[in-house]
Amino acid sequence: MRRTETEFPVLDRVPGQERAIAFLRRAAERPHHAYLLAGPEGGGKTLGARAFAAALLCHVGGCGDCRDCRLALADKHPNQVVVEPEGRDIHVDTVRSEVWHPAYRTAPEPGRKVFVIREADRLNLAAADVLLKILEEPPADTVIMLLSARPDELPETVVSRCHVVSFLPLSERFVSDALQMEGVDAERAGLAARLAGGNLGRARRLAAEKDGLAFRDVAVRALDLAGAGPAGALEAAELVLAEAERYKKDVADSQKDDLLPFLDERGRPEDAYRAAIRRIEERHKRQVRRAERDYVDRVLLAVSALLRDRVAAVVGGGSDVLMNPDVTPAIAPVARSAGGVAAAEEARAALAEDVNLNPRLVLEQAFLRLASAG
Ligand SMILES: [Zn+2]
Repeated sequence: MRRTETEFPVLDRVPGQERAIAFLRRAAERPHHAYLLAGPEGGGKTLGARAFAAALLCHVGGCGDCRDCRLALADKHPNQVVVEPEGRDIHVDTVRSEVWHPAYRTAPEPGRKVFVIREADRLNLAAADVLLKILEEPPADTVIMLLSARPDELPETVVSRCHVVSFLPLSERFVSDALQMEGVDAERAGLAARLAGGNLGRARRLAAEKDGLAFRDVAVRALDLAGAGPAGALEAAELVLAEAERYKKDVADSQKDDLLPFLDERGRPEDAYRAAIRRIEERHKRQVRRAERDYVDRVLLAVSALLRDRVAAVVGGGSDVLMNPDVTPAIAPVARSAGGVAAAEEARAALAEDVNLNPRLVLEQAFLRLASAG
């Protein structure tokens, strides 16, 4: 037996999930047609799905280095389709065009086809029905992965046709150690791990991006403004929106080179890759559309954490209970801070629930409530 058939080194890149990875390692040798990767956000499901896709698409079982592996790890392999919620739901049209049609057609490149459905619990009923039909008549050489932090919200009929792979929550200590192994200095690693909870992906972004913590500075400034009264509250909303716009531009800029692997020397799309290119372009548009909301959500989350620290500073407990151990909490009445936390969390929930809500309105209301809380 060739060494590479049993080793799948690409799967070793997923830290802290030995049992899940051991399972996927065995699965890669003779894959079933559908898997449900279940576990909390940030535990490694996305990384696991990419590594598993690489193991399935690589000609030597997942070396981690070849073109197939590199493209799969970047979610860009032509035979790999990644589906995400558009707004709140994953719609039936998306499942039809992104999963159903390509699943029963020849893949752009020789080899397997891999479909990854993120936040699969957001499939609406009609979409789940179409998926179920695919699972009932699995297309040849096709592997479908569903990812979910809320697997109990998936229809039982869908779950029962998947092999379930459980990802466990990661501890703050583990996340911090993992970042340090990746070369992040201990202090920054500890802070990123604290701010991200058990979410390794988020911690990695916080630690790695050149301004990974910039959104928290925005939250600090917005809180200061809102503390000065209603006029300040409106200024705070304006500040967050301006920064969100800047972030959106950065997201668009970062997408520029993504299509290069599929263009010829003159920069024109190669025929075989038209569908892959269209999907990447669609995903880019989605990412840009979501960028503003993602950013606003991050700032509101930071606002909420900073206000929780104000409560902790008054009721006591020392610096190790603080979400932001490097920021000295402002002294404020507990009721006022607690009211602010509620305002920030309700704003986040409202934005997550309804994609048609105007972020400006939500932010203004949240900061006005915050300014008058207590
Ligand atoms: Zn490879």
